[in-house]
Amino acid sequence: MTNKTGHCHCGAVHFEVTGEPLRMAQCHCNACRRITGTGHNVQAFFRKSDVVIHGMTSTHDSVSDKGNTRTRHFCAVCGSRMFSENSAAPDAIGIAVGEFDDSSWFKPQVILYNAERPAWDPIDSGIDIHEFM
Ligand SMILES: [Zn+2]
Ligand SMILES: [Zn+2]
Repeated sequence: MTNKTGHCHCGAVHFEVTGEPLRMAQCHCNACRRITGTGHNVQAFFRKSDVVIHGMTSTHDSVSDKGNTRTRHFCAVCGSRMFSENSAAPDAIGIAVGEFDDSSWFKPQVILYNAERPAWDPIDSGIDIHEFM
């Protein structure tokens, strides 16, 4: 078991993770495109009990395509997108992979919402691709 650490751009929010990711995903949905300002969002999901967060985040709630509540956390100081929660999986937390100090362990297992992927954001066709969820 390796320890993983990370922080936002300004350092006001930082975190430590013990344990391995439950799931690693790359999502091209319209919400992820707008939230990130780029073509996709990459997240690794962990057990909440394996994650310790220091510092305050601001949150925004929205409703997913399946009707669940998505709560997204960002640094109130620098705006870095950090974490996401889903009411359908209350024991899990998604962490934006770019916030880790070392993310060399990350490898997306699945590509979501390929149907909403911008043409300018190419993907590796070796990954399991889903047009939506
Ligand atoms: Zn920050
Ligand atoms: Zn998405």
